[in-house]
Amino acid sequence: QHERISILGLGAMGRALAGALLAAGREVTVWNRTPGKAGDLVARGAREVSSVEGAIDASDLTVACLLDDASVRETLAPVVQKLADRTLVNLTSGSVRQARELDRWLKEYGVRFLAGGIMAVPPTVGTEGAFILYSGARDLFDRVAPALSPLGRPHWVGEDPGFAALYDMAALSGMYGIGAGVDHAVRMLHAEGGDVETFKREVLRPWLEQMLPIFVAGADVSDTVPDEYNPEMQAVGLENILAASGEAGVPADLAGHLRASLWRMRRAVATAG
Ligand code: NDP
Repeated sequence: QHERISILGLGAMGRALAGALLAAGREVTVWNRTPGKAGDLVARGAREVSSVEGAIDASDLTVACLLDDASVRETLAPVVQKLADRTLVNLTSGSVRQARELDRWLKEYGVRFLAGGIMAVPPTVGTEGAFILYSGARDLFDRVAPALSPLGRPHWVGEDPGFAALYDMAALSGMYGIGAGVDHAVRMLHAEGGDVETFKREVLRPWLEQMLPIFVAGADVSDTVPDEYNPEMQAVGLENILAASGEAGVPADLAGHLRASLWRMRRAVATAG
């Protein structure tokens, strides 16, 4: 079941999704607001239709991957009645509240709805590490997951339709935090005349690989400092990094992640004292 799948949206991600489904032998129908974006998908066997209705009609399962929540609403509003008793999976990123409200709206029309979050970028869709978060009714997920598994490992995160977005946004925040740190690091290196490529390969990457599991395992919401770490030592360490950054002339606003940690350590020192 669900061998025929329609994709709404042929941006970079929609095209990657359609391509992965075609590669897995699914019958794929595609629609995009602006025509002519199907590229080589049609040559690879996809059928392009000129209306959203046509896309919904063509398949057992419709997947939306558009810019944002507003574009999903705008696209579905004129055809929502047509989706009654059909399955819609939304892989458009958005907020938790948007996902919950979209779920409520679609359920009023009898749409079987799953919310999703893509933990991949277009080139990694369908590859080993890629996974897709889904939230909504578990039995619906169980029925839909095999059809969509070529996109990436399907991973259900709960009945609450907002949870796919919640896990997605929280994971992205973690990623951007690392990104900010990496950015800050290479700028310091460069400003003081170091070789960025050597630093990345020989120091930054192995160091992050050593520390990432420790960071993730130790992350909690308590703001406490593990017993084996003296908060005063941590505070001095953070001040040293900020000093090195200042000496290198790297803008202080790039060091926001360090300041937040420093603030936590100073508070821990004050509380302990
Ligand atoms: P693009 O900007 O490449 O494509 C946006 C798509 O949305 C286009 O198909 C565009 O159609 C369509 N669109 C925009 N506004 C409307 C509207 N009002 N009505 C109908 N269609 C509209 O984005 P991506 O494909 O990269 O991303 C799509 C979704 O996937 C986003 O929610 C994104 O967050 C998510 N995602 C993307 C990742 C990535 O790395 N690219 C990673 C993980 C998730 P048109 O061609 O007509 O403008």
